[in-house]
Amino acid sequence: MDVEKEYLQHHKSIRVCVDPDWAPFEMMDEHHHYTGIGADLLYLIAKRLNISVKVVPTSDWAESMRASREGKCDIVSFLNQTPLRDAWLLFTKPHFRDPNVFITREEHDFISDLHALKAERIVFPLGTAMEELIRKTYPNLKVITVHSEAEAFEMVSSKKADIAMRSLIVSAYTIKNEGMFNLKIAGQFPDYINELRIGVIKSEPLLRDILDKAIATISEDERREIVNKYVSIKAQTVHDYSLVFKIILGFIALGIILLWRYLELKKYTKELVYLSETDILTQIYNRMKIEKLLLSHTKNAHLHGAPLSILLLDIDHFKSVNDTFGHPVGDQILIQIASLLKVSLRENDCVGRWGGEEFLIICPKASLQEAYTIAKRIQSLLEKIDFPTHQHHTLSIGIASLIRDETAYDLIVRVDKALYNAKKSGRNTVCTS
Ligand code: GH3
Ligand code: MG
Ligand code: MG
Repeated sequence: MDVEKEYLQHHKSIRVCVDPDWAPFEMMDEHHHYTGIGADLLYLIAKRLNISVKVVPTSDWAESMRASREGKCDIVSFLNQTPLRDAWLLFTKPHFRDPNVFITREEHDFISDLHALKAERIVFPLGTAMEELIRKTYPNLKVITVHSEAEAFEMVSSKKADIAMRSLIVSAYTIKNEGMFNLKIAGQFPDYINELRIGVIKSEPLLRDILDKAIATISEDERREIVNKYVSIKAQTVHDYSLVFKIILGFIALGIILLWRYLELKKYTKELVYLSETDILTQIYNRMKIEKLLLSHTKNAHLHGAPLSILLLDIDHFKSVNDTFGHPVGDQILIQIASLLKVSLRENDCVGRWGGEEFLIICPKASLQEAYTIAKRIQSLLEKIDFPTHQHHTLSIGIASLIRDETAYDLIVRVDKALYNAKKSGRNTVCTS
């Protein structure tokens, strides 16, 4: 312990060789300050040991390696241990771990086994630990070397090389910073995680032990804080607006179809209701509908103690019209008389075809007297109609008013009797019951 303290007292400043271009691990910034993840870790270690670090300036990593071999620096700040480097360096325990990944262009297949690749060009910045390993283990690959990390990625991006292999953190950092979005991470190099350590020149084993003790004091939180300062690998949520747009369109289309179906159905229902209630020839209510109306008006009249009168109308000698002029002419007369009945009604009255040439008119709130007036008005209007037969056609009309507790059926029986009486008394007349 005392030996270590004494060593530090005599070595207040240590010389360090760095990679000037290995962002975000270590690099020299525009003011020639040593910076990066490795730099901050080293500054932290130096602070713990109360010493300072002095960067030996070099132009690239290869020159740094050379300088350290030549003893121009005491330590190399941030590197993997390799057999080649063991020749002149002692290594601390790892102070940073980062997996290695394969970088390819988008179209490249996923790489699960480097041995399976045939003559692909793999690119490394000069003098990396990876290059050494790949040359030895994978003779099937063609190794290309370049001067910088960014250049290696550029080679792959511009198809001058097929694979680059670097640490996950460096790759993420470079792809993002250089905007090389045609690149992707195509796999992870199995069992090879960058275990970054401080290399100490062989003549200083005590320094290595001192550094190891300082490294052991670095907490995971301190490490994470340093990494986050340089690389913020954020989980990005990609909003696929095209999918949202498609879904909205789908809903709109479905809505339109449903609305269209609803309107169609409404139209058909209306048509169906119309057909079920209407007499097709005369376009007035049919027997079923007028009976229903009679039932409901009878019920209402009893409920409110209101008067209700009905008229049963029958065309006189209609059979002979058909016989003389033919059925189509008979139909035309039926249509004309039905229209006349319709227009001669008051607002709440209704008319329906009761049978062949018979019609029923319901007059709610009308007394027998009012019904009689209506009947007479119809007869006089009928006189003015110009029929295709050029003849006058007349109606016999029976009228009846609902009496207390009378059923619709009994009312009909009475009005039918009144009509019968009208026929009997010479036709073209109005009879009451
Ligand atoms: P009455 O004065 O006694 O009522 O004599 P009528 O000839 O009018 O009575 P009848 O019951 O003998 O004949 C009714 C005729 O109405 C018979 C039938 O051919 C005719 N008729 C019924 N429905 C239609 C129809 O839809 N079209 C035509 N053209 N004729 C019809
Ligand atoms: Mg009849
Ligand atoms: Mg008749």
